[in-house]
Amino acid sequence: MVTSPTALVDRFGRVHTDLRLSLTDRCNLRCAYCMPPAGLEWTRRAELLTADEIVRVAAVAVAAGVTKIRLTGGEPLVRPDCVDIVAGLAELTPRPQIALTTNAVLLQDLAQPLAAAGLNRVNLSLDSLDRETYARLTRRDRLPAALAGLAAAQRAGLAIKINAVLLPGINDTEAPQLLRFALEQGAEMRFIEHMPLGEAAPWQPDRFITAAEILDRLRADFELEPLGRPDAATAERWLVDGGPGVVGVIASMSRPFCGDCSRLRLTADGQLRHCLFATTETNLRAALRSGATAADLLGLMQTCLNDKSAGHQVGAADFQKPARGMSQIGG
Ligand code: SAM
Ligand code: SF4
Repeated sequence: MVTSPTALVDRFGRVHTDLRLSLTDRCNLRCAYCMPPAGLEWTRRAELLTADEIVRVAAVAVAAGVTKIRLTGGEPLVRPDCVDIVAGLAELTPRPQIALTTNAVLLQDLAQPLAAAGLNRVNLSLDSLDRETYARLTRRDRLPAALAGLAAAQRAGLAIKINAVLLPGINDTEAPQLLRFALEQGAEMRFIEHMPLGEAAPWQPDRFITAAEILDRLRADFELEPLGRPDAATAERWLVDGGPGVVGVIASMSRPFCGDCSRLRLTADGQLRHCLFATTETNLRAALRSGATAADLLGLMQTCLNDKSAGHQVGAADFQKPARGMSQIGG
């Protein structure tokens, strides 16, 4: 791969082309695997990066070779200026691909403005198609709103993937229905292995639903032909029943893909992280608020990357769970 002189490369030669920006740690759902029922102690507004600060960091990253930006959270759509942030990112040169990960509860009214502002793709989290199971898992009765959000994303012409986390005894039997639904919608279905982040549903090494189990369940109803993991993507993909439908599994736990990691994450309070499981963060907010130049910010990004290890240590005896959960890191 040809890299620009300013490319964000770590000690292992991994080039960082993906930036995940968390817009907020707040959320309108309380998914069992992500958040406690009462929510978390939300970051104070003054500590959140402003839209301008977010776009400034993104501009530095794009100049250093980042080509894909994903907005996430918490729930990114609860942030009132989410459309302005997309518009700001869409003006960057070279123009990055802009994607959004959302629970879609607020997407019905926002899909069209987001698409008009420059959003390219949306990953929509939908863990169940059964209203009661959805309400039990997310602790909110919002399935109709999420489905209306999906329909609006389709009308707005956004490319759509549907993400689900399967929890034993709650929604793990729904994998085939979810895949069938995604195929009907013309969307790619992706199952994500439950990761030990956050203090919600306790993660146990021998109790999460593995990629192999998910595939077994799907194979009872569908023929799956392996497509591998093209472009070092996070999801390993399979062609379903001869295509064109495709299903992906993100097996961060049972088949980690750290060797191909190209991601950097910025938390809503301006801390740069080189890994979901990182236990250290680089404070870009302090730099932004004390007159840092683009070169200073780039230097801090490189400092952060210099600390990145070859792979996560989940399962190792000395594994240390990060202090902050998925919704605070920006999943
Ligand atoms: N609120 C948005 C949503 O749910 O799509 C964006 C943020 S959420 C943290 C991003 C993704 O992380 C979702 O697809 C969610 O299912 C996933 N997620 C959250 N906690 C997780 C965990 N402990 N293990 C695996 N995936 C998790
Ligand atoms: Fe909110 Fe997303 Fe976490 Fe669910 S997974 S609680 S929607 S941040």
